[in-house]
Amino acid sequence: MRLDVAELEREGGLRRVPLTVCLDAAEAGGDVVAFPSPLRGEAEAVATKDGVTVHVTLTGEALLRCARCLQSFGYPLRLSFAEHFRPGPPGVEPAALQGGEDEVPYVTYDGKSIELDEVIRQHVLLALPMKPLCRADCLGLCPRCGKNLNEGPCTCGSEEEDPRWAPLRQLSPGGPGDGQV
Ligand SMILES: [Zn+2]
Ligand SMILES: [Zn+2]
Repeated sequence: MRLDVAELEREGGLRRVPLTVCLDAAEAGGDVVAFPSPLRGEAEAVATKDGVTVHVTLTGEALLRCARCLQSFGYPLRLSFAEHFRPGPPGVEPAALQGGEDEVPYVTYDGKSIELDEVIRQHVLLALPMKPLCRADCLGLCPRCGKNLNEGPCTCGSEEEDPRWAPLRQLSPGGPGDGQV
């Protein structure tokens, strides 16, 4: 998605454009994140005295892998952010160009048009959870047999139903299995 700045100025310095953003699968938190469908939303560009401010709102879905049960699940994305752009040499880290301490961070553009895709991609990746969970109370996998405990209990527990261990199990706060020799 490219935003023509000359066009923006011709239109009086305010422009709203619908956004459809297709993102490639990316790596986040050591795992691959996929985007099964385009993210949709709107960008509102406002010309300022030294550049352009773009407000972006987007909704969509990311396919993440649950940190506990390792199943893929759709994570709803809802983004809203503003980014400031100023004309400047490409490839320079914005922080290196910043003047005063109270200055708002910004991204440079070539003076003609603003490329939004990379900025959007970075904001989407930042919006993803560090430890994705398919649901807050995901039971995860049995550490012994690997069964997904969300689908029901495994048989590891019942094998330990030996009455001789019952008194020990009551004493052990770690639960069944901890007292096993
Ligand atoms: Zn899970
Ligand atoms: Zn098990």
